[in-house]
Amino acid sequence: MKRRVFWGGVLISLFLTLLLIVLIEHTVFNELENEIHFSQSIKTLQLAAKLNSSDNDILVLKNAVTDERVVLINRDGELLFDNKAPLSTNENFSDLPEIIDASSKGMGKSVRKDTKTGADIYYNARRLVDGNILRISRSDTGLEKIRSNLILYFIVVYIIIVLISSFSSKYITEIIAKNIEKISFDNPVDTCVYEELLPFTREMNTWKNEYLNKIEEIKSHHRQTEAIINGMGEGFVILDGNLNIVSINKSAGAILGVDIDFAQGRPLVAITRQKEIMQLLNNLERQDSSFVVAHIKNSMYRVAASIVTEGERGAVLLFTDLTDKLEAENMRKRFTANVSHELRTPLTTISGYTEMLTSGMVKSADQAVFLERINKEAKRMLHLVEDIMRLSKMDEGNISDKHEYIKLMDVVKSCAESLRPVAEKKQVDIKFSGDAAFIYGDETLVGEIVFNLMDNAIKYNKTGGSVHVHVRSQGEQSVLTVRDNGIGIAKEHQDKIFERFYRTDSSRSKETGGTGLGLSIVKHAVEHHKAKLNVESDLGVGTTMTVVFPVKPQANKQSY
Ligand code: ADP
Repeated sequence: MKRRVFWGGVLISLFLTLLLIVLIEHTVFNELENEIHFSQSIKTLQLAAKLNSSDNDILVLKNAVTDERVVLINRDGELLFDNKAPLSTNENFSDLPEIIDASSKGMGKSVRKDTKTGADIYYNARRLVDGNILRISRSDTGLEKIRSNLILYFIVVYIIIVLISSFSSKYITEIIAKNIEKISFDNPVDTCVYEELLPFTREMNTWKNEYLNKIEEIKSHHRQTEAIINGMGEGFVILDGNLNIVSINKSAGAILGVDIDFAQGRPLVAITRQKEIMQLLNNLERQDSSFVVAHIKNSMYRVAASIVTEGERGAVLLFTDLTDKLEAENMRKRFTANVSHELRTPLTTISGYTEMLTSGMVKSADQAVFLERINKEAKRMLHLVEDIMRLSKMDEGNISDKHEYIKLMDVVKSCAESLRPVAEKKQVDIKFSGDAAFIYGDETLVGEIVFNLMDNAIKYNKTGGSVHVHVRSQGEQSVLTVRDNGIGIAKEHQDKIFERFYRTDSSRSKETGGTGLGLSIVKHAVEHHKAKLNVESDLGVGTTMTVVFPVKPQANKQSY
């Protein structure tokens, strides 16, 4: 801008100076020329008057004192008198414009340059009464000098004007530029000192506000999308046309075992060389969408890819964890096989006994024993079916959501009451202690937990052993402890006893009427209450099962 203003100033001053020269030339010099012509015509007129009244023109002319050249020419253009040069026959005057004008109109004038000196020569001619033509001419170098001096002055003046205008334009543009630089994008209207720029700064302010709103909108949209993508349990990766990672969410980073900031912008192949994923990328060269099942770090994923053609070409990858689904499927298969196996045993027994009874092979004295065995197996089957149904309900999530405040000690007492005959039969002593700990939960499920733990503590106890149930509130939690001094569980079994149909000693469990599902039901019910279950056991010494329930803070305060 500064350069433009500078050159603008220089050109304008050049133009104005030239205009001035042309005007001065036109007016002043024309005027001066007219002045010369006028004085010369007066002189010609005076001398012509003298010649017209005289009989001897040559004498009059010789006596006339003048610096100018005076010539007298006859009608034919022949020279009759010349005061500056000897008469010459060679010089013909009849073609000269001032002579032509004088002979036709009575007077004529013209200006010509002297071929030798280059000075302007002013001619003035007048026709005399006798038809001869008197011409006075004068060489004038003064005007020419003035003209060349004037041009010199103009050049000097022009340089001065250019210097002044360049300095002033530089100074002014610097001030303007500084003030324009001071216009702040945050507040363009208040920081603008030039009234002329106010409409522009107002416009700028409107644009700025619109622009900031748009940016904020885009940012919030971006944040939302990022939050959604990052909150997704599935891994999500966006690739550009060259298969470089444009965006990768936390889940995908965790699945591929890479820092998402590191992965950003890098080629996908630099992050993973997983065979199935490479296959998937190959598929995309032929198809718009495809999927593979990939085994990544002990988990199974369904990796789906689709080509994106909107805007810039690219692709999106979606990693869905199939581990739980496959695990659940396997579990179901195992469960079905186990259930069939578990039901088969009592059914085979019942069928065998009934066949023997109906065939009359059993003596009437033994029939009661056989019937009792059939009854025992039928009860075991019933128990098993009930446990299977309970677990199935839990698996389907078909559990009542009717949560309420439950006093743990009441549940313990009720279970102890139900289990008293079994305990007495086994000569196991049941003790309970603790405070009025409350939990917020489903009474039936909490009953299942307490009953199964106490039942096991009795079942897997020694004759004359004891079971101690303790409940206590501990800050925001309520703790249930079932301790026995029974047979204990070996370390290698402790993690597995919560699996369905897992028994440390199958024959002992069956003998005691166990189904192998009690602790699976406990585990489910514990998870449903977001509680924690812990096992401590030593073989031959005893077992302590601890369940820590979370309690809503107001529960304990409310009831007592
Ligand atoms: P079951 O119906 O066989 O009792 P559970 O699921 O309740 O099935 O228990 C699984 C296995 O864990 C039992 O078969 C038993 O071997 C072991 N177990 C559970 N509780 C105890 C305990 N208190 N003491 C010793 N072993 C136990």
